[in-house]
Amino acid sequence: MIRLRLALIASLLAFFVLAVVPVASVAQRPASRTAQAGAIPSPSAVLGFTPGDDKTIADWGQINNYFTRLDQASDRVSVETIGQSTLKRPLIVAFISARENILALQKYKDIQRQLADPRTVTSDLQKNRLLAAGKGVVAISCSIHSTEIVASQMSMQLAYNLATAQDAGTREILQNTILLLIPSPNPDGVDIVANWYRKTLGTPYEGREPPELYHHYAGHDDNRDWFMLNLKETQAITRLFWHEWFPEIVYDVHQQGATGSRLFIPPFFDPPNPNIDPLLLREVGLIGHKVAADLQAAGFKGVLTNALYDTWWHGGFRTAPYFHNSIGILSEAASARLMSPTTVTSDQLARSSTRGMRSAMETTTNFPDPWPGGVWRPRNIMDMELLAARSILSLAAKYREEYLQDFFELGRKAIDEPVPPDMPIAYLVPAGQARDEAVAKLISSLIDQGLEVYRLDSELHVTYGPQLLQRTNSASERLGSYRTIIAKTSAMQEVPSSSYIIFLAQPQRQNVLALFEPQIYPNRLTAQGEAERPYDVAGWTLPLQLGVDAPAVTAIRESQSERKLTLVKDAKEVRNDLALPLSKAGESPIKNPVSKPIRVGIYKGAIGNMDEGWTRYVFDTFNVPYTSVKDTDFRQDGLSSKYEVIILPSQRARDIIEGNPPTAVPAEYAGGVTAKGVSNLKDFISAGGTLICFDASCELPVKQFNLPLRNVLEGLKTSDFYCPGSIVSLDVDNSQPLAHGLPKATNAYFINSSAFEATDSSVRVIARYDKENLLKSGWLLGEDKLRNQIALAEVSVGKGRVVLFAFRPQHRGQTWATLPFIWNAISTSAK
Ligand SMILES: [Zn+2]
Repeated sequence: MIRLRLALIASLLAFFVLAVVPVASVAQRPASRTAQAGAIPSPSAVLGFTPGDDKTIADWGQINNYFTRLDQASDRVSVETIGQSTLKRPLIVAFISARENILALQKYKDIQRQLADPRTVTSDLQKNRLLAAGKGVVAISCSIHSTEIVASQMSMQLAYNLATAQDAGTREILQNTILLLIPSPNPDGVDIVANWYRKTLGTPYEGREPPELYHHYAGHDDNRDWFMLNLKETQAITRLFWHEWFPEIVYDVHQQGATGSRLFIPPFFDPPNPNIDPLLLREVGLIGHKVAADLQAAGFKGVLTNALYDTWWHGGFRTAPYFHNSIGILSEAASARLMSPTTVTSDQLARSSTRGMRSAMETTTNFPDPWPGGVWRPRNIMDMELLAARSILSLAAKYREEYLQDFFELGRKAIDEPVPPDMPIAYLVPAGQARDEAVAKLISSLIDQGLEVYRLDSELHVTYGPQLLQRTNSASERLGSYRTIIAKTSAMQEVPSSSYIIFLAQPQRQNVLALFEPQIYPNRLTAQGEAERPYDVAGWTLPLQLGVDAPAVTAIRESQSERKLTLVKDAKEVRNDLALPLSKAGESPIKNPVSKPIRVGIYKGAIGNMDEGWTRYVFDTFNVPYTSVKDTDFRQDGLSSKYEVIILPSQRARDIIEGNPPTAVPAEYAGGVTAKGVSNLKDFISAGGTLICFDASCELPVKQFNLPLRNVLEGLKTSDFYCPGSIVSLDVDNSQPLAHGLPKATNAYFINSSAFEATDSSVRVIARYDKENLLKSGWLLGEDKLRNQIALAEVSVGKGRVVLFAFRPQHRGQTWATLPFIWNAISTSAK
């Protein structure tokens, strides 16, 4: 606390002193004092082991403590707490730079803020001064995926090296850049992995992954949240990055499987997201090749570029920067077994293949020096990551001004770029949609990621562009560029006061497009005619997922001076504006007409399941009470005396029934619900209970209880049908209680999901996939297989019933459009 205050006073003083000095001379000031290496504790002096050594692991308490010690001992390091994790651990960032820069952080933050918004820069003279005075801001983040643990350990070594080294290269880095080092954006997961690793060290399970999600709600999906901002961690770091520091380069350090390349580094594979400026793709490629060349020069083998990972998908730590005019770099080192070494054979390498790499033993231009196999240690991973970080920082230091200039010019282009006639100039979120909470969620996500949103203080008259549907409704258009599709405009229409408007002419223009436009994934097939799998999802259009109407606007009648608009400064305003039920603790969307509570159990098996985590997330967010039901609970009688509703989140029936094999985990984590649990579940339903199944888990009741339904997509080849993470339209029978309050046309999330046909007339169909044009955003091959099939159904079993969602109604906490189906399914279980 004292330290923080001193640092603040020091930086204010420095700002005052520097502010009166002409900026040009500031950049030329020599480093005034060098750090005293002797006084600075090394990681091994604090931890008692050297990070990266076999079978050692530092937990979050130790990492946090090391950074606190470094902050106290080094004038090149300043550590700040930027928030709390989901399970209330401190989230920290270490600012690392030359002493005089650390003393003037506020000044450099101000420069970044001006460069991030070129409208604040009124002359070339001012711009040139900012470019001359500014520092290259680089962010490095470690182990967002907690089993990819080495980078979190590496962060201490990297910080120590930068705090103590005296060589010319380090001095150049310190003088010209400010590093924002995030030892981990998921501290809860670091502890989950550290505790598990220590517990299993020396047992047959040493080095295996823990049998639980390493983020309380999201598990691996903690890196799928960077535009939705559901999680505390993404919220805190997004604030740090896109409201305060605007890093020109963001490097996200990951690990991949053990048997492929030793390290992947960009350039990325195809397809690129069409909303990423080509200049950024080139800069990403340049940095990646520099890292690869430096690793090669240092004798590392097995570095792969141009493979597997693409830039299509929006929502990752390294993809969010592209939509803020910054460079995002990913590295993926081959994993060991957590912090234990592993052995990889040449046979395993020869069999390892992916997009862009036929075999990890084959020499190609993008993989010129395969690694021959052998023992692979955490130390090997750490050495590559340390060198990659060094390489990126060196480039940022050497080309400091160019990186600042490109960042600034991309922002200027976003604001000034002329819009062709009949193309969108803004998106509107009209007032009065009767979905206040979804509108508030949309608007607050936008504001939280630094987008400008205005509220209308009086009505406007606008020309709407074509509906998203019209712009994407033919196969030929989907294969081409939707930007060339000519808009079919209609007459001016009045938009009511209190609506929201998001203009494209703002620094984050590309982010607006990427979030509001439908994604049209190019049809990419292998030589065998199978679908070539994208790295992650193909479509995510935010208003469509949320069920919010957000039409494009191509013209506004009122001139700039006639418009009455208020910039919404804080997302909290929106949440208060709309008087959300969510903001009032204790209120829930469940309508229960009887006084007896509806007790909901959510299945939580020993196999960590992200869909289960996200289910808990939406229930917690909407204040809907539930109990997690374990495998062992299912094996005991009496489910019906404990619950009225049981939910099976999306998971294969086999994984639910069999769970973890006993050879893979200690006995307490082995086995699923077992045949006994399946039989207990049937008794629960027969006695009057409601079973709700999401997507893959439908297979369990359909097959085990012989329900009169068949999944028509089961066993199809991807040449016949493929739909990876896309938004499709449903035709909803909203006369039924399960669909109460939902529009007849509702969008749903389909991610290699299911589609049913009824084999007798007892099935109550609530929603079908649309009869035609059912793709709204993403990629759908073989639309005919999906047309008019059952998407949501209800089947009676004894006195109870099974509700079957063929799609994902709560995917990643993003699909608010379909959450009401879940609440209705629970509400209609009241007895
Ligand atoms: Zn990862």
